[in-house]
Amino acid sequence: MSQSAELLRGEKIVKYFGGLAAVNGVDIVVRSGEIVGLIGPNGSGKTTLFNCLSRLLPIDSGRIFFKGRDITRARPYQVARMGLSRTFQVIRVYRKMTVLENMLISRQWRGETLLSMLKPSHPETERRARELLDFLKLSHLINEQAGNLSGGQRRLLEIGMALMPDPDLVLLDEATSGVNPTLIEEIKDHIRELNRTQGKAFLLIEHNINFIADLCERVYVLNYGQLLAHGTPHDIMENEAVIEAYFGA
Ligand code: ADP
Repeated sequence: MSQSAELLRGEKIVKYFGGLAAVNGVDIVVRSGEIVGLIGPNGSGKTTLFNCLSRLLPIDSGRIFFKGRDITRARPYQVARMGLSRTFQVIRVYRKMTVLENMLISRQWRGETLLSMLKPSHPETERRARELLDFLKLSHLINEQAGNLSGGQRRLLEIGMALMPDPDLVLLDEATSGVNPTLIEEIKDHIRELNRTQGKAFLLIEHNINFIADLCERVYVLNYGQLLAHGTPHDIMENEAVIEAYFGA
């Protein structure tokens, strides 16, 4: 894996909120076909880094590259179109819309303008939505309003929505939070399968260390907006600075 091409590269990323450096000089790389973890205590800058990488937030300094192209100043829809997709810590599905409708809208987000969301969806788009819902074992809920789904099912739907544009890299923000243990195992299997059979790369923000240890080859650890450590899950869990950051006084 370490020989594969780079998909995403963040160089010395800095993001301030007022006087607070929420992300402070972080270097991060995700290569094609990798599953990489991003962990750190609450408030360490993980979500802010995701927002910078997916271009939802402008950065104060540093550079971001996707597939070798400088996307430092690109718009979120442009990087989505290039194959970078993401989910959010707070689930973002349209509660009044059905599961299928949520999926169809996500497809159109990637490629086109907002206006295209008003057009009827292409049969090919609907076929892809149905296939993905089948893969995620959500087919029986296809006409259910998203607001009626359990927390875990909504997470799965959100992952499905992120997969609609057929991205090369998916940034998953806390895919397991609020999800029961059985569904956590399912989400893990889905990520593994998408990685193995379709070569999709993932960058995972997670509190669930076992989830990270089971899936990731490499893990980045943030603390106070800075990179505290980087290595295999095993190395990270034995790293004294990491243990101190999580459990220290
Ligand atoms: P994590 O995802 O690791 O929990 P965040 O990226 O959410 O951390 O937050 C990093 C720091 O930036 C925290 O101190 C948080 O309070 C602050 N922060 C995050 N978003 C904002 C914002 N929109 N405005 C001001 N401060 C923010």
